[in-house]
Amino acid sequence: MAEPAASRPPRLVLATRNAGKIAELSRILDAVGFADGLTGLGSFPGAPDVPETGLTFADNALLKAHAIAACTGLPAVADDSGLCVDALHGMPGVFSARWAGKHGDDQANLRLVLGQLEDVSARGAQFVCVAALALPPDGDGGTRHEWTATGVLAGSLTRVPRGANGFGYDPIFVPEGGSLTTAQLAPEDKDAISHRGRAFRALAPVITALLAGR
Ligand code: IMP
Repeated sequence: MAEPAASRPPRLVLATRNAGKIAELSRILDAVGFADGLTGLGSFPGAPDVPETGLTFADNALLKAHAIAACTGLPAVADDSGLCVDALHGMPGVFSARWAGKHGDDQANLRLVLGQLEDVSARGAQFVCVAALALPPDGDGGTRHEWTATGVLAGSLTRVPRGANGFGYDPIFVPEGGSLTTAQLAPEDKDAISHRGRAFRALAPVITALLAGR
């Protein structure tokens, strides 16, 4: 559900224009009982594209959530996520989307990581997501109302890409205890274990409690 039901004004903004991400986050929040009042940035054409200048997932998620809450006047939820590879000391991390240089070139990013690990037998890696919720500034200029939750999916990296679902590094990531890559899983099966699913399910009780009275 990307846009609010006509009968009900939006109560919470998902700080993204990415339709796939809105669908995924709506599915995850729906599953924990937060079904209505969500909208994406498509409803706010003037909202800024917030650059991810932070050096941690939490920094970036909070930067986006605060900027969008301030501009829309609504509580805002944002996330930042990436792949952390043990042999690369946690990189690409916050640089996951632009590891090969150009933002969002999933194929080049994935090929670069496979090349970097070609002679490396230690294949451990984690997908990490920080979900952040921020309230609009309250007028006193000082107090920032914010919450974060972290979700981790541990696993290992294949040597050859497999599967056509998902995006990014999914074709080379096998969750711990499994044999399929996350690109070979059905979307709902990935949601059930994913770093994003875990982070948003952890944040959901805060969202529900906060918005109960709104
Ligand atoms: P962002 O959180 O949308 O900024 O995503 C950062 C980058 O991390 C993506 O462009 C992907 O390269 C990678 N990434 C984050 N989550 C996933 C995932 O679930 N599967 C595959 N790649 C991911």
